[in-house]
Amino acid sequence: MSSSGPFRQLQDGSVCPLCEAYFEDPVTTECGHSYCRMCLLSHAGGKDNAGGQLSCPTCARVMGWRAVTTDVRLGVTTRIAQRLNFQALPPRRRRYQEQEI
Ligand SMILES: [Zn+2]
Ligand SMILES: [Zn+2]
Repeated sequence: MSSSGPFRQLQDGSVCPLCEAYFEDPVTTECGHSYCRMCLLSHAGGKDNAGGQLSCPTCARVMGWRAVTTDVRLGVTTRIAQRLNFQALPPRRRRYQEQEI
């Protein structure tokens, strides 16, 4: 296993705890937890549910949707992590790709 250190941290920080995939349209709550927008929406039962309130899936903090912000920086970080992950494909698969070219 060579994936450790900053690279590993970048990977872990780019994964949604709800769907366990890379963030898609990431948002961050006022308590500092991040999710895909759609994951958080469906966890809260839709934006119109419960008077616009939601509870954070990680720490159960209750807040309004106004406390949830689009995380542009995290979106950029996630794209970088995705690209790094692609480049870090196992050697066998890399050789296969080279043969195709
Ligand atoms: Zn998600
Ligand atoms: Zn939270």
